Amino acid sequence: MKTIYGNDHRRHGKHHEMSGGRMVPAVECPERAERVLSQVEEAGLGEVLPPQDHGLEPLRAVHSSAYVEFLASAHERWLAEKGHAEAFPLSWPVAATAGLRASPPPIETIQAELAIYAFANDTAITAGSWAAAKQGSDVALSALDQIRAGEAGVFALCRPPGHHAGRETYGGYCYFNNAAIAAQRHLDLGGSRVAILDVDFHHGNGTQEIFYGRGEVLTVSIHGDTRQCFPFYCGHADEPGRGDGQGANLNLPLPLGSRWSEYEPSLRRAIDRLVDFAPELLILSLGVDTFAEDPITDFGLRGEDYPRLAAMLPPGMPTLFVLEGGYDLQHIGSNVVSLLSAWEAESISAGDPRA
Ligand SMILES: [Zn+2]
Repeated sequence: MKTIYGNDHRRHGKHHEMSGGRMVPAVECPERAERVLSQVEEAGLGEVLPPQDHGLEPLRAVHSSAYVEFLASAHERWLAEKGHAEAFPLSWPVAATAGLRASPPPIETIQAELAIYAFANDTAITAGSWAAAKQGSDVALSALDQIRAGEAGVFALCRPPGHHAGRETYGGYCYFNNAAIAAQRHLDLGGSRVAILDVDFHHGNGTQEIFYGRGEVLTVSIHGDTRQCFPFYCGHADEPGRGDGQGANLNLPLPLGSRWSEYEPSLRRAIDRLVDFAPELLILSLGVDTFAEDPITDFGLRGEDYPRLAAMLPPGMPTLFVLEGGYDLQHIGSNVVSLLSAWEAESISAGDPRA
């Protein structure tokens, strides 16, 4: 299986996050991607290719132009106004939530702009956030190019992750929604049906939001119950989609502490739904923060469960694997690569000539 990887993620280097009311070193760090890359190489998963620059158009097909422009210049303006390295929001877009206004008034300071676009205080904008996030989207888009050229499965080794980023919101360590950008690009190039299965521990709130009113993209997420887990405000079982998207969103929240025995029936439900939908492309939002030893989550999956997960994915369906979360540095590489290797072995044994 080919992997797409670029070095620009390192520019979004060591920084801080607000966690439990304290500023601490961010768990979303460059070493995550480096550990996965070295495991890809060690396991001989396949060729590692650099991403191609796809410009800004595919980003603007998912995120608003104003939001893309904001991220491109946010850090420079923060530095000019505040004089230190990491930009954090101070308040939240509650005016819209309270029904006071649909769109913000003209913005005069960077702090005001952060208050419009941030939805969580865990995510700093650093000097390299733009470069890393932009290249992260190019990694996903370049992997999509490979699938569209006939590869059965391709791994987009994206960092930072993307599934929490909404049309014009960042948070949960995510700036651009890499999986959604690839899905939309596929549709814009003539595709008609895409499914996104999100197996990260956290609900893929951004992906859900982006496609919530759309019937041509099925979004399914298995995650820690958002009555207890980030992002809290959505991800509940009674969110089926709306309008044309009615029935095209499926949330499968699970209790804290869930192990494979609890996880497997939900995965089965998710896959039955995928198979009924019959997409031409499956995008797997691949987070391995479901691992028992992950430092910021509370599921109980073990290393041997990731190949099991792969073996349950529908055979013969072109699959784009997009890296999301996973914060246990010791095991992130082996958990990701064992899943990908198992998927490839299954595809070969199912007789897919492209695998
Ligand atoms: Zn996560």
